[in-house]
Amino acid sequence: MNYELIILGGGESGVGSAILAKAKGVEVFLSDSGTLKDEHRQTLINYGIDFEEDGHSEERILSASEVIKSPGIPDSAPLMQKIITKGIRVISEIEFAGRYTNARMICITGSNGKTTTASLIYHILKSAGLNVGLGGNIGKSFARQVAEESFDYFVLELSSFQLEGVYDFKADIAVLMNITPDHLDRYDHDMQKYVDAKMRIIRNHKMGDSFIYWMDDPVVTKEIEKLKPASDLYSFTEKNNHRATAYSEDNKMYIQTKGSVFDMELELLALQGMHNLYNSMASGIVAKLLDISDDNLRLALSDFKGVPHRLEKVASVRGVQYINDSKATNVNSCWYALQSMRTKVVLILGGTDKGNDYTEIESLVRQKVRALIFLGKDNSKLHKFFDGMVPDIEDVNSMRDAVDTAYRMAEKGDTVLLSPCCASFDLFQNYEDRGDQFKDCVRRL
Ligand code: ADP
Repeated sequence: MNYELIILGGGESGVGSAILAKAKGVEVFLSDSGTLKDEHRQTLINYGIDFEEDGHSEERILSASEVIKSPGIPDSAPLMQKIITKGIRVISEIEFAGRYTNARMICITGSNGKTTTASLIYHILKSAGLNVGLGGNIGKSFARQVAEESFDYFVLELSSFQLEGVYDFKADIAVLMNITPDHLDRYDHDMQKYVDAKMRIIRNHKMGDSFIYWMDDPVVTKEIEKLKPASDLYSFTEKNNHRATAYSEDNKMYIQTKGSVFDMELELLALQGMHNLYNSMASGIVAKLLDISDDNLRLALSDFKGVPHRLEKVASVRGVQYINDSKATNVNSCWYALQSMRTKVVLILGGTDKGNDYTEIESLVRQKVRALIFLGKDNSKLHKFFDGMVPDIEDVNSMRDAVDTAYRMAEKGDTVLLSPCCASFDLFQNYEDRGDQFKDCVRRL
């Protein structure tokens, strides 16, 4: 049989799209080159959706009129090349699901801070009583929620890969946190290609649509000059710059929208640190554009519980605070973590190096770090850079040893920070596993 729609990849977004397609009466077939997770296979069976795994039946796929591609599949994959050559339209789950909802779309992208900002915006909107769903790169897929819920608003975290496959979709409120080099292997090592994908967040924007961005990001501001978006522009900066929609002055954050000014003491924000100030500001602008009251916004910005593995406070043991920042898989993220520390730090770092240059954190390490603990299979590069910079350095190769060593080295009032600068795959399954083991070991101290 010929199918109208082929879904490539049976992960969360692929299965969600299949459910939505089925619900809308579209002839759909899902194909995965690998083995599906039991849970996903069972869902497809339960919904009566046709699928195959452990390989693609090419002929069937090439006869489709439209393909939804999982964000994980690069265009360079041989099957994708054939699909593209045949001129079959390739879209993302976001484009597909967007066709079936009239909810207001609040979409967040950027190289860093997407999950935190999307989760914070969702918390603010939900706490203010709005009927809102959270999706994209987080949790339950957007498509599945469109099929099974009826939200008035969606907060979507969007990666550059998801944005590549959008055409008619529009983010009513687009938030672009920053653009720094990332995933360049998927963009032929061409930074502009990655930037172009990110800028699709404002695709189809007209007057009245909103575009929120970080004013001090040179890449983003250059794109704005070039593209001259028709959107209403709202910017944020941690500096004292009254030209921005959100700025800070005298330890307060200000958001000026629609003729009124919201203000809040920085120390009352649940998320601390400069990078998190950007995240709070971007979220605050969204809230004010949606007419959320100052009181509701203040409360939500102060009682947000944060996202696991991002500067997550674990516990205080004998006067020492333990913080899990396992998601800091690059040096830039660790820089922001160290920058936000107000005490001396015992820093646990290491793992799979992605060509790191540690110069970026050198001065913060010299200023704030009491001791370094290298947690990795191969710590030679770390030794080469940091030896002699800090009096105490120890090597460990399990989280248990890392935490026990940190416990021994830390003095009352210090912070023990896991902010590894590296991927986790040498000793752990992923960054979540690394963070969970850290929390577990801390709780057993
Ligand atoms: P993403 O979803 O884009 O990967 P996260 O919210 O998961 O971003 O945060 C990942 C890491 O990036 C965190 O460990 C944090 O230290 C850092 N980070 C968070 N927000 C920002 C920001 N606005 N600018 C720079 N770095 C950030």
